[in-house]
Amino acid sequence: MTREVDPVEQPKVALVTGGSRGIGRATSLLLAQQGYDLCINYLSNQERALSLQSEILALGVRCMLYQADVADEVAVVAMFKAIDQQLGPLNALVNNAALMLPQLSIEQVTSARLEQMFSVNVGGSFLCAREAVLRMAYKHGGAGGSIVNVSSLAALTGSPDEYLDYAASKGAIDTFTKGLAKEVSREGIRVNAVRPGLIYTQMHRDGGEADRVDRVKGSLPLGRGGTPEEVAEAICWLLSERASFSTGGSINVSGGLN
Ligand code: NAP
Repeated sequence: MTREVDPVEQPKVALVTGGSRGIGRATSLLLAQQGYDLCINYLSNQERALSLQSEILALGVRCMLYQADVADEVAVVAMFKAIDQQLGPLNALVNNAALMLPQLSIEQVTSARLEQMFSVNVGGSFLCAREAVLRMAYKHGGAGGSIVNVSSLAALTGSPDEYLDYAASKGAIDTFTKGLAKEVSREGIRVNAVRPGLIYTQMHRDGGEADRVDRVKGSLPLGRGGTPEEVAEAICWLLSERASFSTGGSINVSGGLN
């Protein structure tokens, strides 16, 4: 596939957290096809990140990799400084990185698990958004920008008997999206969220049930699981100027379960 460049658009620089696999990978590839220069953040798998970088460089855009835990404030600050130096002003952020831990019920919850879940899924998104706003906001000399937070349909269902903590972390992301959108709306920054439903990625294996999508897909109105590419389409639309009148909203990409 070749790179599409819209001649009326300014150069775009995007950061995708957790961008080397699953929904983040599909989003990185679609953004590159749309002409964005990219920083792909990853946590643990450098080989996979390098492979994606090669694929993206072949599309004719710039692409840097940055290994960082989004819950680590020092690492996040360093990552944004590296983007400043290597790619220039950031104008798009996809807060995609998140973790899902093995299924449990309320009786098994521990504070250590909650700390891990919320520091990555919520804290990481806050820290990256803070650094993005410091660069995008008019009052800080920026030229505006767009942030998309990847929430989950679990924020609406609550994921009883399986992922109460994960679902609650995504509920926090929904609230954060609404509040931040209002806080920075006069600073040229739009903030929106996407709520994927059951999507075929490795996250379900990490959550203790690799085949979960196939087990549950019959309950969805569309009767099938979704693909990372289907979620990436919504993320990239919200990120782009084509969504210029949308802020503080969210799109469910969930096969009819709403
Ligand atoms: P995935 O395949 O498990 O990928 C998660 C990515 O996040 C990985 O690339 C991982 O990096 C990275 N990551 C994890 N912890 C990180 C940390 N502390 N710092 C930086 N990166 C970190 O997940 P996915 O299914 O594509 O999910 C992407 C987003 O969609 C998440 O926000 C998830 O909650 C949301 N979502 C997914 C589904 C679904 O059905 N799949 C449904 C609803 C919402 P490494 O690979 O380098 O370790």
